[in-house]
Amino acid sequence: ENFPIVSQFMVMFIITRLLSIVCKAKPLAHCLSNELAEKLRTDPKSISTASVDFGNIVREAPEAVLHPSCPEDIADLVRSAYCDGDSSIPFAIAARGRGHSIRGQAMARGGVVVDMTSLARHHSGGAAISVSWSRHLGYYADVSGGQLWRDVLEETLRQGLSPVSWTDYLYLTVGGTLSNAGISGQTFRYGPQISNVYEMDVITGTGKLTTCSPDENQELFYSVLGGLGQFGIITRARIALDRAPKRVKWMRMLYSDFSAFTKDQEYLISKNGRYQDNALDYVEGLLLMHQGPPDSWRSSFFPLSDHPRIISLLKQHKIIYCIEVAKYYDDLTQNTVNKDLENLFQGLSHIPKFMFQKDIAYVDFLDRVREGELKLTAQGLWDVPHPWLNLFVPKSRIADFNDGVFKNIVLKRNITTGTILIYPMSRNKWDDRMSAVVPDEDVFYTVGFLHSSGFDDWEKFDLQNKELLRFCEDAGIELKHYLPSFGNEQQWTRHFGSKWRRFHQRKARFDPKMILSPGQRIFSRNQ
Ligand code: FAD
Repeated sequence: ENFPIVSQFMVMFIITRLLSIVCKAKPLAHCLSNELAEKLRTDPKSISTASVDFGNIVREAPEAVLHPSCPEDIADLVRSAYCDGDSSIPFAIAARGRGHSIRGQAMARGGVVVDMTSLARHHSGGAAISVSWSRHLGYYADVSGGQLWRDVLEETLRQGLSPVSWTDYLYLTVGGTLSNAGISGQTFRYGPQISNVYEMDVITGTGKLTTCSPDENQELFYSVLGGLGQFGIITRARIALDRAPKRVKWMRMLYSDFSAFTKDQEYLISKNGRYQDNALDYVEGLLLMHQGPPDSWRSSFFPLSDHPRIISLLKQHKIIYCIEVAKYYDDLTQNTVNKDLENLFQGLSHIPKFMFQKDIAYVDFLDRVREGELKLTAQGLWDVPHPWLNLFVPKSRIADFNDGVFKNIVLKRNITTGTILIYPMSRNKWDDRMSAVVPDEDVFYTVGFLHSSGFDDWEKFDLQNKELLRFCEDAGIELKHYLPSFGNEQQWTRHFGSKWRRFHQRKARFDPKMILSPGQRIFSRNQ
């Protein structure tokens, strides 16, 4: 009686919308509790937010968005889709972290999108991130799957601790990056983020909430890591922690010669023992092209007073290769860090006098991309289309890639204004039991074309992406895509290579009705 008329109307509206989803797919309404139905939103703002992503290229509208307050809400929803035993197609469900995918991977056309950040929000006061220690694991944090890495950093730093493996940008969710890999300059030494997880709670495509680890439900554990959301929804992850350093020596050196650049990068990542004193903590690299300024939105690094001489170097060489490294230090190592770096850099062949250094707080180093995001947001340029392309290139073909792609396509087309990243990592830091796919060579490079286009011209970047992929195909360069997006099963089969059969079997086992993450477009739901 006291239920306001507006709320009654809303509930009726939601139930009617749900019925419409359900009628198209399969009878679901009788499986949904009222409590769950109330957590589904169908208002235009919720639908439109869940219909776009950072790529701003694909648009797929769900019928409803779930804002879960606990993992059971998600399990109820998945069971609702799975519950009916007949052969009709159940409605699809996609977990959405921050929707920072590029090609609709977190969308669910006509289905339900689960806003995972809502799960994290419902643990206010930091309770969604709890830090513990065990003799077996050392320090670790249990975090919600919808938690932003930035929040994980802040909370663990309070206790003098920190995760060891990062992405360049921290406003991504734990579940989202673990579904891909989570890579950055730390990967060569600490492995990708998926190599730094001890345990997870996962809701599979049958609606079962399962705890998994290398010792318990092992197959699910390895399936989900790098599994593109295909096998389950991560509601909790147990992340490895270490003592947090205080400060960072952040350095860049410039090269005009590609082989000197890659030789030095490979030397620097060869010192990759986790507890090795003379190892760097972060090694990346990027291309500077004569048509752009030396700094980009991703970081303002070079001193303004040095811009003129860097620009004149760029005019001379057209492409300059830049190694970017970081070494952490704290009170104990502050007196030795410079000497360690000096020793490590002996014999490097960068252009003399083109080495630059900054000394900044650890948190500022990790959060370095945020400043650029805020600037672009203020200018209305953060939400433009992003036809990004991320590739893993085997070390044996990286020189061919430089000649054929950077020099012959990117430089000639002269349209690239965003960042191009290039840095190596070692295969032995990746666990082959996981779903993530990397090239079959001990060392491979990640190359990221992080294009920012205007609102109407993203297709020209897409054409460049296609052209360079065609070049690699013709030249027999065996690439793997990172954050992949393919249009048909044949391309996926090729992408996964020897892992495809197992990927397929895992899907049949953990999500037999193909309910989860349809936006990846790996499996056809009409089979
Ligand atoms: P979403 O895009 O929302 O989801 C990605 C996929 O995972 C979808 O298929 C979704 O259904 C699934 N998913 C989401 N949450 C869960 C969950 N809890 N359980 C199961 N499946 C789930 N990546 C790097 O590795 N390194 C970087 O340095 C890096 N920098 C980036 C910088 C920017 C500015 C942007 C936009 C992206 C960057 N990325 C980087 C890519 C990023 O890792 C991916 O976009 C990833 O998808 C994480 O984003 P998200 O949390 O928004 O996930």
